[in-house]
Amino acid sequence: MGHLKLPEGRKIAVNLGVDFDAQSLWLGGFNRPSPSFMSRGEFGAEVGTPRLLALFRKHDIRMTFFTPGHTVDTFPAINRKVFDAGHEIARHGYHHENPTPIGRDTERRLIDLAFATYQKHFGTRPTGCRSPYWDYSENTLDLIEEAGFLYDS
Ligand SMILES: [Zn+2]
Repeated sequence: MGHLKLPEGRKIAVNLGVDFDAQSLWLGGFNRPSPSFMSRGEFGAEVGTPRLLALFRKHDIRMTFFTPGHTVDTFPAINRKVFDAGHEIARHGYHHENPTPIGRDTERRLIDLAFATYQKHFGTRPTGCRSPYWDYSENTLDLIEEAGFLYDS
């Protein structure tokens, strides 16, 4: 087991991460495209995320934003601010999809679709991922490894 070397005078370390799901959770995860749920997602992107960015900037904290491709395509300006602030953008599905019922080819296609989105908006390919829906299919771990991710949260 590895050991964490903390800065002088520090006794604990905390690992925080952000799921920047916006509307994708309600669309892809829960199939709830009502105006109420879309409004929640929009509020998160347009109001919540700028507040988080200000908080992280105030405390000089760099985060990982696990962000579905749909969120990047739908809210490119705020995602650009996240990226430009030095936070890591990590893969979190395309539609925040549940990977368990969709089949290997579809799961792979959605990983590639998310990669294309990150490449288009940031010119990068994420090295980290968090399974959307916090679940795995029988193919997910193989696909994550084949895609070359360095870690999965
Ligand atoms: Zn999520």
